[in-house]
Amino acid sequence: MTQMQELSRRRLLTAGAALGGLALAGCASTPSEPSAGRVVVVGGGFGGATAARYLRMWGGNIDVTLVERNTSFISCPISNLVVGGHKQMADITRGYDGLKAIGVKVVQGEVIAIDVAVRKLRLASGTELSYDRLILSPGVDFMFDQVGGLQAAIDSGRVTHGWKAGPQTVALRRQIEAMPDGGVFAMSIPKVPYRCPPGPYERACMVASYVKVAKPRAKVLVLDANPEIQSKKALFERAFQQHYSGIIEYRPNSEIKEVSGNVAKLEFEDVKADVLNVIPPQRAGDIARTAGLLNMNNRWVGVNWLTMESTAAPGVHVLGDATFSAPAMPKSGHMANQHAKVAAAAIINLLMGLPVSPPPVVMNTCYSFVTAKDVIHVASVHQFDAAEKTFKTVPGSGGVSAAANQIEGRYALGWALNIWDDMLA
Ligand SMILES: Cc1cc2nc3c(=O)[nH]c(=O)nc-3n(C[C@H](O)[C@H](O)[C@H](O)COP(=O)(O)OP(=O)(O)OC[C@H]3O[C@@H](n4cnc5c(N)ncnc54)[C@H](O)[C@@H]3O)c2cc1C
Repeated sequence: MTQMQELSRRRLLTAGAALGGLALAGCASTPSEPSAGRVVVVGGGFGGATAARYLRMWGGNIDVTLVERNTSFISCPISNLVVGGHKQMADITRGYDGLKAIGVKVVQGEVIAIDVAVRKLRLASGTELSYDRLILSPGVDFMFDQVGGLQAAIDSGRVTHGWKAGPQTVALRRQIEAMPDGGVFAMSIPKVPYRCPPGPYERACMVASYVKVAKPRAKVLVLDANPEIQSKKALFERAFQQHYSGIIEYRPNSEIKEVSGNVAKLEFEDVKADVLNVIPPQRAGDIARTAGLLNMNNRWVGVNWLTMESTAAPGVHVLGDATFSAPAMPKSGHMANQHAKVAAAAIINLLMGLPVSPPPVVMNTCYSFVTAKDVIHVASVHQFDAAEKTFKTVPGSGGVSAAANQIEGRYALGWALNIWDDMLA
């Protein structure tokens, strides 16, 4: 053990921290204390912001730098309510001041290169940062090449994806508002895996909830590349029928091949739309690809689930949507937040020269609005399986709502406020 590790270990023990049980060590560290190590976090979304915050809270004197390209965090969860006109962008936007207040150095910039051999990364500005451990939580980027003409259609503003909350959410909302009564809103869903399995069906409900009142002759056409609804199927089917009969039309096995003008070209038919919302196929964020980490189907990053360390590059921990998911593990903000806590605990121990914490248990809850107030949920618990070295769902855990209801509407908004605080407060 190095002198620094020994110092850090003594300090940690004195503070009475019980990292194995993930007890809170407190975020106080005096400026004179030597750092226990440098961790750079790339991506200030659900995974990265949570990891930065918990490294400071649990790790005390770890030097944590968060690099994020955007000035503020804009949440994808609840963004479908903005699309439906029930919430505003300000409701889903938060700043990074809370992280700064607990000692995270927040750098606004784009990471363009990572040299995993010498543990250094470079920003577009030319700034270089060295690290002992790197956390990457870059989310997804889109495989535009899978749908002819899509990149150009999105770049021109004619077609939106709205699958990264921000200007795309605003543009999509404006297009829906400008759509004529009697117009067609068509949404295309890619084959799984994509981020947020229930998200597209929630969006269909939110758009339908708006047009039902504002443009009652309009249609919402859901073109799903999958053979059936991918999450909370019976509950969404019921919502489509109960609230949006004659408005939502759901078409399975309808994969988009090309976009031409405002026409979605499927294998056997062309669908003309007034508003075309194409959710493109997805893979791990570009920076993970640039760094040579996409070792699963050339699309996702394989990780050691005990530490979230990439199986492609030592010292690089990858979280959230960018990972090759464990069986039945959704790509969700809630799950990225859980990954972050597993990684933060493991990294603290690794920097201290201690064994990593005992096998973790993580959980997920995804709420979906089917009207402005009625909500359904799906939940699951995932336990690390030492024999198979992956997370497996705990039998009997989780499940879905019995029916859409307004109490869960309140829970859903509470969930969002809580998780944003858990990442950023
Ligand atoms: C419409 C919609 C609804 C959703 N609803 C829910 C829900 O109700 N519940 C739920 O749990 N999940 C939901 N999700 C899914 C959730 O948003 C994602 O699973 C979650 O954001 C994944 O977290 P992440 O950290 O992997 O990526 P993100 O949260 O996307 O964070 C990635 C961050 O990295 C930054 N970044 C990327 N590359 C670089 C770089 N090179 N340099 C600097 N910064 C970089 C990005 O700007 C971004 O801020 C929804 C998603 C959508 C699209």
